[in-house]
Amino acid sequence: MSQFEIDSQNAYWCVIHDRDIALVDQNLPYGKADACGVDASKAIQVGEYQQAPVYWVSSSVVPNNAVFQPLRALLHEDAALFNLASRAMQLDIMRQTQGYCSICGTQTEFSQDLMAMVCGSCNQWHYPRISPCIIVAVRREGKILLAQHPRHRNGMYTVIAGFVEAGETLEQCVVREVKEETGVDVGNVRYVGSQPWAFPSNLMMAFMADYVSGDLKPDYNELTDARWCDESDLPVLPPPGTIARRLIEDSLAEFRQDV
Ligand SMILES: [Zn+2]
Repeated sequence: MSQFEIDSQNAYWCVIHDRDIALVDQNLPYGKADACGVDASKAIQVGEYQQAPVYWVSSSVVPNNAVFQPLRALLHEDAALFNLASRAMQLDIMRQTQGYCSICGTQTEFSQDLMAMVCGSCNQWHYPRISPCIIVAVRREGKILLAQHPRHRNGMYTVIAGFVEAGETLEQCVVREVKEETGVDVGNVRYVGSQPWAFPSNLMMAFMADYVSGDLKPDYNELTDARWCDESDLPVLPPPGTIARRLIEDSLAEFRQDV
């Protein structure tokens, strides 16, 4: 696409600096580059949302009326647009952190064709790092297993999650993480959906699982608490827009139907 076309289109602008994204009233700047105060000369299209292009711009220049904020501030947005902003964020992080070839040490360059960093010396392509994580709602007789982590300062409880290890299937990861963190054995593991989670580079893969056996024994190195919750005694939950919240709400909705 020519620079003239980029400049003259109404577009969504993901202006990213230092792992923050520029938002106007908690929304992405939308409009022509000039009107938004965006330098579009290095804009790279990351997708399209409702027939409008979505561009990634790496820049510390604050667009008109915008404030640099963490990507979380955009969680209220439609998932399709939020995920494109996540894509821009992950590409920006790639450019920051993969600036040198891990094979030969030469400085890499961003390739728009590949959406990757390319080493001009040894021709190796370096794609953005994406870390697979499982996240799982464990259910037992109308209750869901929720855990509290020391890192959540608001006392929030959420479902169990963890990184996939090398050579492990997702189903094995679900069983292992739940066992390690809570002492409980689970089965009937089934896939629900996924969410790119650019904090900084996770891909959350969500599952439901059923309690099989074992007493609840939280690993206090990882958790401050874990308990079985039903609709009548819910703690503070993850914010809407997260796949954790969706797992919890889907589970509660199923419990209501089962009654
Ligand atoms: Zn190289």
